[in-house]
Amino acid sequence: MPEKLLQIEQEPPRGDWTDPTVQFRKGFFCYGGTPKSVSALGLPNPRKWQPFDPDWQLPPGWKETILTGMKERLEKYRSFRLFMDICVRCGACFDKCHFYLGSGDPKNMPALRAELLRSIYRRYFTPSGKVFGALAGGRELTEDVIKEWFYYFYQCTECRRCSVFCPYGIDTAEITMIARELLDSIGCSINWVIEPAANCFRTGNHLGIQPHAFKDSIQFAADEVKELTGITIDVPINRKGAEVLFVMPSADYFGEPHFYTLLGYLMMFHEVGLDYTVSAFASEGGNFGLFSSHELTKRLNAKIYEEAKRLGVKWILGGECGHMWRVLHQYMDTMNGPADFLEPPVSPITGTRFENARSTCAVHICEFAADLLYHNKLRVDPSRNDRCKVTFHDSCNPSRAMGLLEEPRYILRRVCRSFHEMPEDTIREKTFCCGSGAGLGTDENLETRLRGGFPRASAVKYVKETYGVNLLACICAIDKATLPTLLEYWVSGVDVAGVHELLGNALVMTGETERTTDLRGEPLPEGAGDE
Ligand code: SF4
Ligand code: SF4
Repeated sequence: MPEKLLQIEQEPPRGDWTDPTVQFRKGFFCYGGTPKSVSALGLPNPRKWQPFDPDWQLPPGWKETILTGMKERLEKYRSFRLFMDICVRCGACFDKCHFYLGSGDPKNMPALRAELLRSIYRRYFTPSGKVFGALAGGRELTEDVIKEWFYYFYQCTECRRCSVFCPYGIDTAEITMIARELLDSIGCSINWVIEPAANCFRTGNHLGIQPHAFKDSIQFAADEVKELTGITIDVPINRKGAEVLFVMPSADYFGEPHFYTLLGYLMMFHEVGLDYTVSAFASEGGNFGLFSSHELTKRLNAKIYEEAKRLGVKWILGGECGHMWRVLHQYMDTMNGPADFLEPPVSPITGTRFENARSTCAVHICEFAADLLYHNKLRVDPSRNDRCKVTFHDSCNPSRAMGLLEEPRYILRRVCRSFHEMPEDTIREKTFCCGSGAGLGTDENLETRLRGGFPRASAVKYVKETYGVNLLACICAIDKATLPTLLEYWVSGVDVAGVHELLGNALVMTGETERTTDLRGEPLPEGAGDE
């Protein structure tokens, strides 16, 4: 019941924060990686284990492995060393993390979360820590510290909200990423991250969908469009020589409500006559490697450029996904680029040059669609969305990692007649995470997810009560998978949809038969299309 979770304990615990002991309570942690997935990825120490086991069966020499791993990363990443050294404990980030706000657990304060790693850094890598130990803020690296890291670094969604408020720009998400890499190096990963990653190696996507099922799903989507509009659309798969490779998260062709977003994309591509292809090999834009290690991120991301090269396309268009865009925007160019075999993207419909994507050669679907609308290349009837009073959830990665703030709003304002923003300090760069990103969107940690999503849900509740909002639009596959549960718990009566689902509803396609329903098969509101 919401009342139970609203009882957030704000009293600081009586014990010393340096005590690493944690209790693995049901609902607060994710299950450990299975031997099958660990082995499939070639990660160390495959075994059957769970976080609540007293003995984690750490590999011989685990302490050495962690300290060597830290040393290597301190030498490799200047940002990591800087983040270890410069926190002044000013407190600006303390109340900015949704997990702290929803749980009241001080170790979910970003600065204290980082301190769990920083204290080990001090003890083993600074002269004062080596000599004075605890007096200099150092802690011994023990098995309990490893358990504490696992518990708290898997209660961080790497959302980077805290970094927006830090005067020194300390990015706790980067610290979490390093901590997770170190945990992986001794076989302490979570299954909800490594199983999708292992699936990706087997079949090209997180859900483990094989090429024939991918083809069937795409055909099913084309059939749905035909039924809805009377228009036959062709969705090319693995077509060599297409101008554009379109890559989407696998949930778009296998999940709900994601599937309606896919219909929206396909209708738009058909309407403007885009020369594109999808790929059964690069059938996943998402990248769960990002939640595990830089190495795994790179390995999973590589297939996108490889497939673009094999198919001979000019540039890449990417669908509605969150962390996919963090990787494409911030890492792909240097991890697997330069993409000198591609061309700086130019819209074949409007002639717009996407200068921002000159280097990565990857354009976000919202940039592409907003540009089409801006140049009046799409005819839309927003009255078809009149049953929706819409608000927009800025997904953490597109907003904070790539600054994609205006384009989705521009689209929504063109395709809906009732759009209302949530409070200022909960949107745009300051957006609150859904509470389930970074691989935490599983079931066993549901209480953590509901608590972490509480600030986002509270802002939705505000616009529901103030403006009657009944639909939360977003542009992330994880959001679409996890926000429905969150909202059902905290704010029932608010649905979740992709921006391109709403665009697809409003899109008036050339030659379409009279539409009677929206993409979900719900009757169009009375009077839609009358104006
Ligand atoms: S805002 Fe930055 S400097 Fe201040 S306590 Fe947080 S991490 Fe440290
Ligand atoms: S990155 Fe997000 S989840 Fe992690 S500590 Fe910062 S605000 Fe919290």
